[in-house]
Amino acid sequence: MTAQMSAKPLEGRVAVVTGASSGIGEAAAEHLAWLGAKVAVLARREGRLRDLVARIEKNGGSALEIAADVTDAAVMRAAADRVEEQLGSADLLLNNAGVMLPAPIEELRADQWQHQIDLNITGLMNAIGAFVPQLVRAAGMRGVADLVNTSSIAAHNIFPNFAVYSATKAYVTQLSRHLRVELGPKNVRVAAIEPGIVGTELQDHVTDTGAQEWLNASQQTIEWLTPQDVAQVVGFIATLPPRVNLQEVIVMPTGQGS
Ligand code: NDP
Repeated sequence: MTAQMSAKPLEGRVAVVTGASSGIGEAAAEHLAWLGAKVAVLARREGRLRDLVARIEKNGGSALEIAADVTDAAVMRAAADRVEEQLGSADLLLNNAGVMLPAPIEELRADQWQHQIDLNITGLMNAIGAFVPQLVRAAGMRGVADLVNTSSIAAHNIFPNFAVYSATKAYVTQLSRHLRVELGPKNVRVAAIEPGIVGTELQDHVTDTGAQEWLNASQQTIEWLTPQDVAQVVGFIATLPPRVNLQEVIVMPTGQGS
């Protein structure tokens, strides 16, 4: 039986998930563990990570919690060393930690612009800097590795007052396209996942009342995606035969127009 056909198709693989203490990252960590991967879960809230690891282990999986702030490059390099020591070279990175802080540009919320750039771009790059060497090494040994970056439909679509967030996600999508060309020949597949609205803590951080009202109204009329829906897409990407690289996956709630 091939790895793809077995009940645990990710057995023998080592996954790292950033932003694993809630939402998409948390659901993806559980799903990847259920598919057989050993999973390192990264975020700042240690208690949440501990609960997640306990849940994964209760379900027969294997996980390692690492409290880490992705905006700190040195912390991320230390996290990568720990993963390699304790689990072996990572061969899957779900680069997912992110924040969405919409506001009209004329409000000049430079603090929120910076927060989104620091986390969604610099944090993403810190994880890439820390883990790409392991992905390349693991792909050399095992024949495949995955770099999956969480982007958004905001990378393509126009949402008034979401300019900075959308621009950070356009960065993620465009970067992923370039890295796929660079890393594909080394057997590292690169994918960008671009979800529409997913019900997570992302919406709880929104301070802008106009955006909050827009989100509340959409929740009344659209059945939002769940984090588990997106987790399944991550699992699908990772369990495809090594020759198949889903480059960009747009995942929409059925009722969401744009
Ligand atoms: P959540 O707010 O539920 O999750 C965000 C995660 O990022 C948390 O685990 C949080 O953990 C972590 N995080 C935040 N800051 C840091 C930091 N400095 N260092 C390490 N981890 C950090 O939101 P989602 O699950 O929705 O978001 C995940 C990704 O999905 C984001 O990139 C988002 O842009 C993207 N996305 C979400 C959509 C949605 O509608 N929900 C739609 C499209 C894309 P902690 O606070 O413990 O550090």
